Amino acid sequence: MATEHRARKRFGQNFLVDANIIERIIESLNPDKQDNLIEIGPGQGALTDKLVERSGHLDVIEIDRDLAQEFSRRYEKADNFTLHNADVLKFDFNSLIPSENGYRVIGNLPYNISTPLLFHLFACKHLFKDMVFMLQLEVVNRLAASPGNKNYGRLSIMAQYHCEVEKLFQVPPTAFRPQPKVESAIVRLKPWKQPPCTTVDHAQLEILVRTAFSQRRKTVQNSLKKMLDKSQFDALSIDGSRRPETLSLEEYVTICNSLEQSKT
Ligand code: SAM
Repeated sequence: MATEHRARKRFGQNFLVDANIIERIIESLNPDKQDNLIEIGPGQGALTDKLVERSGHLDVIEIDRDLAQEFSRRYEKADNFTLHNADVLKFDFNSLIPSENGYRVIGNLPYNISTPLLFHLFACKHLFKDMVFMLQLEVVNRLAASPGNKNYGRLSIMAQYHCEVEKLFQVPPTAFRPQPKVESAIVRLKPWKQPPCTTVDHAQLEILVRTAFSQRRKTVQNSLKKMLDKSQFDALSIDGSRRPETLSLEEYVTICNSLEQSKT
């Protein structure tokens, strides 16, 4: 960037400075001229130059007005670049021109908003072909965790309900300036074309999972007692004395669908 920019903590600004890591992230997406890309939080452009070069069109969403101004200047003449100086949490992805093959999304995300941002993206996943993100390692471990793992919880279940999740590689704090206090990792999220299981009502699944994990040390039957009783667990052949972290996504979906059926 032309002018000196002081990293803003409130916007989770940790800029990538390691050329090898930048290259590996770009290669993980491996974009080509047919692709319509979206970059969330381009910052000082560590990934952006290569993305503009290697895409049909690039939309970037950046909240920081100073950084956004720099981008307007830098890509003034590029006809495949659109800047949105906006808060991604409020950004309406449906307002973009529909991309025939689905948008490919990339970003070294601001860690302070990662969970709400992921849920915001899941809500319009039909627009996206795939997403490659840098996140805090702990969040990536939660996204990819299997039942029984200590990281398995609401985020794992909802992410795996919406997307195929693949942890790609870890990134040390030394790859950034300023350096974050935590380890980071790259994850690929691919919205399912054919989901392994479906519910009529995603919102109901979210409520169910949130309630089940509200008291992690209790049995599911106990945590969910306001929603279903032992006989209903028995009818579904699910042992209600298990802890919430031992139930698979399929089992939560089975419970969710039975709640829907009992309403009708
Ligand atoms: N992509 C750059 C890189 O890798 O060096 C910057 C990554 S930095 C971790 C996160 C970026 O997201 C910053 O540029 C920050 O200003 C931007 N950002 C933070 N909160 C945002 C929000 N709510 N909406 C859009 N951008 C945001």
